[in-house]
Amino acid sequence: MSRPLDFFSQQSGTLVADGVVLEKLVESIGTPVYVYSASAFRESIRALKKHLDGVNFLICYAMKANSNLSLLRLLALEGAGADVVSGGELYRAKKAGIAPSQVVFSGVGKTDSEIAEALCSGEDGIFSFNVESAEELEVISSIAKREKKQARIALRFNPDVDPKTHPYISTGLRKNKFGIDRSEIFSLIKDIRKFENISIQGISIHIGSQLLSLSPLKQAFEMLSNLAFEVEALQKKPLLYLDVGGGVGVSYSKEKPLNLKQYCQLLHKQFGKNSAHRGRHRILLEPGRLLSANSGILITRVLFRKKRKQKDFLIVDAGMNDLMRPSLYGSHHEIIPLRNTRSSPPLRKTDIVGPVCESADCFATGRPMSSNIKRGDLLAILSAGAYGFTMAGNYNSRPRPPEILLDQGRIEVIRERESYEDLMRGEKV
Ligand SMILES: *Cc1c(COP(=O)(O)O)cnc(C)c1O
Repeated sequence: MSRPLDFFSQQSGTLVADGVVLEKLVESIGTPVYVYSASAFRESIRALKKHLDGVNFLICYAMKANSNLSLLRLLALEGAGADVVSGGELYRAKKAGIAPSQVVFSGVGKTDSEIAEALCSGEDGIFSFNVESAEELEVISSIAKREKKQARIALRFNPDVDPKTHPYISTGLRKNKFGIDRSEIFSLIKDIRKFENISIQGISIHIGSQLLSLSPLKQAFEMLSNLAFEVEALQKKPLLYLDVGGGVGVSYSKEKPLNLKQYCQLLHKQFGKNSAHRGRHRILLEPGRLLSANSGILITRVLFRKKRKQKDFLIVDAGMNDLMRPSLYGSHHEIIPLRNTRSSPPLRKTDIVGPVCESADCFATGRPMSSNIKRGDLLAILSAGAYGFTMAGNYNSRPRPPEILLDQGRIEVIRERESYEDLMRGEKV
């Protein structure tokens, strides 16, 4: 269960995390800056592991949520593998010390060279490819043959379940590009001998992200379970694992996060020792947002207040290039002043906007904010640990912000602020 202020709190009137006063930190590091709490990452993965006790599981952290090497290392030390969606992510995972034998490769568009890299990682290649189409299966087979490797794969099942989330992050509907439908899974299994150097070991699903209700997950798990038994009957061979994907929703504001205990109980009930599966299948989980969203914030400084009749604008030094979620999905982030005297009334309807030359460059519209907030003040955009830095770019030639990890009073710069030189790397004049 994850909420915006679980790991960042007001102490003596100012925002603190892992024993560090954030105003102090910003004096030397500047803004905008991403700040992460190590204890938040650790406690999130430990809570998940605790609730799964008794299940034979492997957590493959969905790196696209936040792929900083230090955070990957931290999660690897807690026993996590990785769910990667590109060759770049695979490279990162290995750099961070995640064993290829704990990596699954997801995504609809794996290139030939990415497939070869995954097959040739470590001693025996990655743990598994989550295969998304018949043609991909053919290509993996031919590359595995060429490289003299055996490819372990899971077929990604599209259960046509509505996850009731934002359309951009729904993935389990037939109209979405992801996964393979039931009938085609059966025909692929029937023809599996045609695909040399392929060993089918599992079935995977991932129906969407930021799910706040258990019912679509329950429905999808039941369908996954039924399909697994049918596939085993058809191929007369057991499957080794079932991958239940990610998607566990967190709280960005006042909404109720998905109850982690209940989510895990569902997994126990559907796939555990006392289920029809008798605990025979290893359960893979691919959490991304759950572990990272509320483990990080983006701190920004107010540049200007601009007054209009109906509302004010607070123009801040972070932009949509630094944190894209509000512009991309219209998503809500709580925004609070670091110093709580700046939260006092009177409140005024306020748009909090960045410097980028796009009207979409907006973190909040019509938000009631204290009219005491002024130029130079620091604001924290909360719940920015997932799909924050990983989606950041350089639009308007803006260097990407640094990333800081706080760990029991220690301050680690885990990625430096980009320089103007960095912006032009590889370019010619
Ligand atoms: C994005 C993604 C995830 C992680 O989703 P979260 O909502 O961040 O948990 C897991 N699996 C796959 C295949 C994904 O594409």
